[in-house]
This record gives sequence, structure tokens and C-alpha cells, in this order.
Amino acid sequence: MFFNVEGQNKKDKLKEFYDVIIIGGGPAGISAAIYAIQGGASALVIEKAIEGGQMNLTDIVENYPGFKSIKGQELSSLMKQHAVHFGAEFYSGEVKEIKSEEDFKEVIIDNGIIFKSKTLMIASGSNPKKLGVKGEKEFTSKGVSYCASCDGHFFKDKKVAVIGGGNTAVEEAVYLSNIAREVYIIHRRDKLRADKLYQERAFEKENIKFIWNSVVEEIKGKEKVQSLVLKNVKTGELKEELFDGVFIFVGLVPETSFLDINNFETDEYGFLITDKNMETRVKGIYAIGDIRHKEIRQIVTAVADGAIASSHAVREYINETRNKQVKIDKIEI
Ligand code: NAP
Repeated sequence: MFFNVEGQNKKDKLKEFYDVIIIGGGPAGISAAIYAIQGGASALVIEKAIEGGQMNLTDIVENYPGFKSIKGQELSSLMKQHAVHFGAEFYSGEVKEIKSEEDFKEVIIDNGIIFKSKTLMIASGSNPKKLGVKGEKEFTSKGVSYCASCDGHFFKDKKVAVIGGGNTAVEEAVYLSNIAREVYIIHRRDKLRADKLYQERAFEKENIKFIWNSVVEEIKGKEKVQSLVLKNVKTGELKEELFDGVFIFVGLVPETSFLDINNFETDEYGFLITDKNMETRVKGIYAIGDIRHKEIRQIVTAVADGAIASSHAVREYINETRNKQVKIDKIEI
């Protein structure tokens, strides 16, 4: 059975069986594909949205070696071109389920198509964490956003709030300060979690202001966001302040909806635990990038995860079975 690759040359065909199938086309997945192919394996990357993952939502990347400053979307596109150049195949679809049989893994896509492989890389990343407050769901895309580079332009000369104190919140607040009239970083503590470099950039911006020790209690509006009800966590005081929009960057939740999570070991937040080779407790299934329990979530660490996992998979499972096959063939001859 062969399938057309969406978004690629129609002549391209996909196989039914691969050495490595990678679920997720972010930096971890693309690096895994490159290392698998260079190790002599066949590799298929399955991505439900656009390749590049969270990288696509980042305006500028300044800590990926070799690029002093590059747009997230551009880096993502260069990575994909690199993988395609070496022979990685891509399939656009949403994985619904995976199965681990004794000799192979099965990946079931929402359209019913099934791919099989010797090994599997889970590189499905994470999604923005929600605040879970009243009005958040109702006003999503009506003033509530989780992506500054996607929605920032709607807020030219407006007043916006950014919730969170991590790298994403502070970086994106700086990005928004070049579009919006005023940007308020609302943080639940009185110290930012973000790296010093990003903090300094935010403190330098005259139109970035801070509301410390405060959380959002409610997002209010009519057709779209008009105000936030904020609570000071030290005093308990509530106040309502007018805003045209709110950008929420309060961390990540792992995308594991297609997994029977009971088969895997996870940390308290649901991120997958692996050994030093990135292998989960299911033999031949690896977890790489943001989906993995780890300290530092960066493009560079995602890329490293992919390289380690594919190198191990090629050595342990792919070359191993090839060697066995050669021996069997020789006996039969
Ligand atoms: P993060 O580092 O986990 O920060 C989340 C922020 O949201 C924290 O400041 C946290 O407050 C706050 N928060 C969490 N839940 C909240 C709630 N319910 N209400 C209010 N505030 C809440 O998440 P992130 O900034 O999305 O970053 C994710 C990972 O990607 C990190 O490892 C980060 O370093 C990495 N990253 C790196 C770069 C870069 O290097 N250029 C850019 C973006 C992201 P507390 O501080 O009080 O916990």
C-alpha cells in the first residue's frame, strides 16, 4: 500500500514499513530523522500541524549555535529541508493510537491509515498550559491568545496583558512591546523565572510594565476581551483593569493524548521518563524533545535528544535485526 505525501511532490510515495517512525516534526523529530537516515535507516516523520512544532510560534531564536538570530519559522523550514535532502519522508496526519507488538510498532492515523516500524520516536512536544479561569475558553481567539507571533498584529497600539514569568512570557512580551502601546507582564511572584538576558530586555522597554504577585481571576468582555479581574496573592485584594487582549504563557502540557499512558513511566506533570538513550520503558519506543521529563527545554536539547535516540535505535534494533537477517540468509543459502 502506498500513500501520497501531502504538501510534497505528488510523485513521492510512502512505504508501509519503516525502520523509524517519528511522531512530531519539531526539532527533536527532525534531528531523529536525520540521524536515522545517516545511520542507514529509513525514517518517516508524521506531523499533524506544520513541521517545526513550538519553534514556529517563536519569533526570534538567538541561542541555537550557528545562528546569531533567526526567525523560528525559518529555522524550522531549514531543518525540514535538511531532513528531506537526506531522504526523510513526511506525512501530514494526526496520530490516534500506537501499538507495540513483539517485532514491530504500529501507528494508527485518524484517517485509518496504519504505518509500521521497527522503532518509534515520540516527539509530539507539548501544548500551552491553560489558566483555567472563567472567560479563558469563551474569549480564545477573541482577545485571548497563546501565540504572540500569530496574533500580535491584532493589537497594534493597544494595551495587552502577558501572563507568566518564564522565558516564553518575557520573550513574547518584548516582541509584543514593538506592536502594542502598553504591555503588562502579570506574574504570580515578585521575581521572574526567565533567563537574565530576557529579563534585562524587558526591564529596558519603557512600554513594558509589571504587575507582581498577581493572578488572573476572570477574563471579562462582550464580543471580545475588555478587562481582567486580578487578585493580589499577598493581600487577597481584587481589582478589575481594562485590557484589549491577554497572552497566556504559563508553561506547557505534554501531548500524549494518543498514548495509553499507563504503559509508560511519567513524572507528576505527565512528561515521559526515559533512560539515558531516550528509550521509554517500552522497548524500541523513545521519547524526545519537550515531551520528555527534563530540566532544560530548548531547541538545542531537543535536537540532542533526537540524535541520541536515533543513534541508539539504529545500533540496538535496526542494525541488530539486519545482522540477524544476513546470518539467516547465509544459512538458507
Ligand atoms: P515555564 O518556564 O514553565 O514558566 C511558566 C511561567 O508561568 C512561570 O513563571 C510560572 O510561575 C507561571 N505560571 C505557571 N502556572 C501559572 C498559573 N496557573 N498562573 C499564573 N502563572 C503561572 O514555561 P515557558 O516559559 O513556557 O517555558 C517552557 C520551557 O521552554 C522552559 O524550559 C523554557 O526555558 C523554554 N523556553 C526557552 C526559550 C529560550 O531559551 N529562548 C524560550 C521559550 C521557552 P512561577 O515562576 O511562579 O513558577
